[in-house]
Amino acid sequence: MTRKFAELSGPQTLERLTADSVLVVPIGAVEHHGPHLPLITDALVAESVVSSLVPMAVEAGIDAWQMPTLTIGKSDEHHWASGTLWLDAKTLFDTLVDLGRSVATTPARKIVFVNGHGGNTALLGVTNRELRRRFGLTTFSMPAGRGRAGTGRDGEPDEQGLGIHGGWFETSMIMHLRPDLVDESLFAPNVPEQFAGLTQIGFNSMPVSFGWLSDDFGPSGIVGDPTGATAEAGKEIFEHSLEQGLVALKEIDTFTMPARPVLG
Ligand SMILES: [Zn+2]
Repeated sequence: MTRKFAELSGPQTLERLTADSVLVVPIGAVEHHGPHLPLITDALVAESVVSSLVPMAVEAGIDAWQMPTLTIGKSDEHHWASGTLWLDAKTLFDTLVDLGRSVATTPARKIVFVNGHGGNTALLGVTNRELRRRFGLTTFSMPAGRGRAGTGRDGEPDEQGLGIHGGWFETSMIMHLRPDLVDESLFAPNVPEQFAGLTQIGFNSMPVSFGWLSDDFGPSGIVGDPTGATAEAGKEIFEHSLEQGLVALKEIDTFTMPARPVLG
C-alpha cells in the first residue's frame, strides 16, 4: 500500500490520515555545486533520504507519509552562478505557508521538513513557528544528510571543519547515489583560509553567523574539498543519515504539543 501522500485520492486522505500521521517533506535546492556535482545535489539527497526513511519509519510503527519533494529552495548565495534556480526568502516562505494551509485541511497535524540545503535552514525555523501559530500544526525540520567535514585522516581531505558545500561528504553521497552525475576529473579543493583560528565566527554551529555569498570565497562555487570522496564513504554517511533520521522520527512520533485552533 502506498506511503506517498500524492498517490492517495482526496477522499483517502480523510480515511487514512490522522492527527498522529507524520508528513515528511523533502526539501532541497537546484544550485551550482562546483563543476564536479550536478545542480540537483541537495534535492537528490533530501528525496533519497526520505524515500528510504519513510518505509523504515512505517516498519517501526510510525504512520509516516512521503510528501512531494520541494525541489527548488532558497539559494540566493549561489545567485551569481549559471544553473542555479532559486526562490527568494519571501517566495519560499509564502510557498511553505501555503503548503501548511493545505495540510491543515487534512486530518494530519504533524509535518517534518527533511532538508538537503543549508540555505533553507533558517527559513524553515521561521516557518515552523508560523505554521504552528496560524494552522495549529506541530512542525519540525531536520537535515537530510548527517555528514561532517573531512578530517585529514584515513584518506579524507582536511577540510578544517569547512566542508559545507560540494565538499567531501556531499560529493561522497552523490557518488553513492548517482555516480553517473559526478565528474572526478574536476575535483578541486576550495577551503577558505580566513577562518583559521577563529573560535566564534563561522558556518552552521558557530555562535557568530555572518552574511555570505558563495563567490565571496572565490570563483569555484564550493566550500570544502571533494578530493578523496568515495562512494563507500557516501554509503556510510547515507546509512548513518537514515539511522539518525529514524531516531529523530521516533521522537517526533511521540512528541506532543497542545491542540491549537486553525486561524488561517
Ligand atoms: Zn549541497
